[in-house]
Amino acid sequence: MQESTGKVVSVNESLVGVEATSGAVMNGEVAYITLEDGTRLKSEVIDIKPGNRVYLQVFEDTNWMKVGDPVTFSGLPLAVKLGPGILGSVTDGLQNPLYELVKEDWFLERGLYVDPLNNTTKWTFTPSVRPGDTVTGGSVLGSVPEKMFDHKIFVPFTMQGKYTIEDIVDAGDYTLEDTIATIKDPAGNSLPLKMAFEWPVKKPMPFHERSVPGETLPTGIRILDGLFPIAYGGTACSPGPFGAGKTVLQHTIARHSRADVVIIAACGERAGEAVEVFKDFPELIDPKTGNSLMDRTYIVGNTSSMPVAAREASIYMATTVGEYYRKQGLDVLILADSTSRWAQALRETSGRKEEIPGPEAFPMYISTLISALYDRAGVERFPDGGQGSLSIFGTVSPAGGNFDEPVTQATLMSTGAFWGLSRELSDARKYPAIDRIDSTSKYPSILTNEDVAFLRELLRDGKSISSNLVLMGEKGVTNEAFIRYQKSELLDAVFLQQNSFHETDGATSPERLRMMFDVVKEIIETPVDIEDKTSIRSHFNFLRQAFLDWNYTPLDSDQFSTRKTKLLNLVKHKAHVEENV
Ligand code: ADP
Ligand code: MG
Repeated sequence: MQESTGKVVSVNESLVGVEATSGAVMNGEVAYITLEDGTRLKSEVIDIKPGNRVYLQVFEDTNWMKVGDPVTFSGLPLAVKLGPGILGSVTDGLQNPLYELVKEDWFLERGLYVDPLNNTTKWTFTPSVRPGDTVTGGSVLGSVPEKMFDHKIFVPFTMQGKYTIEDIVDAGDYTLEDTIATIKDPAGNSLPLKMAFEWPVKKPMPFHERSVPGETLPTGIRILDGLFPIAYGGTACSPGPFGAGKTVLQHTIARHSRADVVIIAACGERAGEAVEVFKDFPELIDPKTGNSLMDRTYIVGNTSSMPVAAREASIYMATTVGEYYRKQGLDVLILADSTSRWAQALRETSGRKEEIPGPEAFPMYISTLISALYDRAGVERFPDGGQGSLSIFGTVSPAGGNFDEPVTQATLMSTGAFWGLSRELSDARKYPAIDRIDSTSKYPSILTNEDVAFLRELLRDGKSISSNLVLMGEKGVTNEAFIRYQKSELLDAVFLQQNSFHETDGATSPERLRMMFDVVKEIIETPVDIEDKTSIRSHFNFLRQAFLDWNYTPLDSDQFSTRKTKLLNLVKHKAHVEENV
């Protein structure tokens, strides 16, 4: 195929105008601009105007680019290479492996693009088809072990129609460069296949069969799993002001959630935030397996050398890899922090293109793009009866913590769980600072619906009594109301609050969560027969301390049941408490 070509006619930071001089140009295709010193910069066609005028969004710094620099169009959309070797890797949004490339300070040399997956590693392939078998895009040819999973090798999803296996290699060790199968199309043409193939990042992989998310995806975080759960295949968003705990929340979930594969899209808010992720994660241990957490993690992030425009690519890269591991029959969770950076990249590009702006100068189509992204999450069923899921949790960092801005609003409409982070709670160090009243979820909890309603009612009562206390003082509320208030404060302190950095309290299993709920329920339902408010307060202080002691005790330790018994005795025998007062 003859490559299309062109030359640069304008440079406006990452938006470059090009006059196409030969061949046809397609929206979304990748183009390379060659600078005078020979450096080739990667870009994507984002607009085609009459008169052979094409606009490119360049993924790198455009310093030294000049009018007249030659451009070649690849004819192919921005794509991700899919195959064994993704887990455990760290790449930028264009799938450049960062560990291999980064020289210092995670600063990537401009114009350097490397084959995304290692081509020399040998994978032990076991075939599962035989010559003469009929296959189509998505059929399994065999598998290789990748970390803790069996990685299925597919006929590329892009291939349509029926093919016959002409040749398949014997079980053995092969690299991604080796041909492992040859298939024949109905016209008799032979096609060689390798263990990896490409898929365009902006094109959702079609679901074989989509089903409604209905099972809680345990995160280890009690306020979520109990009150505002996310489901396997579900979506969640967490808007919050700077410093309210978005990143800590994501990292806690990355470590403790019951997803098979975690993909972190780090579009750092602070300079260097993504770099911290790159450096810290490889040292973490997976609490589930005791192995490196990276064995089931893929990190895609933006390095300091990448312009804002490249942030968009990271989100799509993460999503496409997520869809691929869902096709493997795994439960995948994408953590995107922060999606506002992505939206800002879109705003900048839209501004440079001089499009008609929507609210707050975001492009009019921002909500369509946001909902299309979250729509790629879901549960997928396969012909063999198996299933996989892709869940997406994105943080949003609205300027000034104002949730009315367009990105937060569009995200709220596109996601099934809303975890609003509150400045008030984080200032009071009540972590996780997820709003107890205004957060929502449409997914099933580990607790029953009745139990959830029971807790939420207490929290609402607690909030209104708390404002009466502020207005009227303790004398202004009845003992009964005061006790109800103390119960809601206790629920907050021992159940909703959780110390992410504590080995035991940091993550709670569904089993333990239910046990804790039963005790919480018993406390809430047990009448407290104490006359004065000082003694009421001290009764609840004892309960809280005993509960926290229990929370900090590992489930498998000897003290677990003795501490629980002590706590239950305190609940039942208020006389015992009064002795201590
Ligand atoms: P954001 O990403 O919203 O700007 P961070 O996640 O970086 O905020 O949190 C800011 C700080 O708040 C953290 O460095 C940590 O000290 C504290 N923090 C946040 N969440 C928790 C938590 N669950 N437990 C304990 N401390 C927390
Ligand atoms: Mg952050």
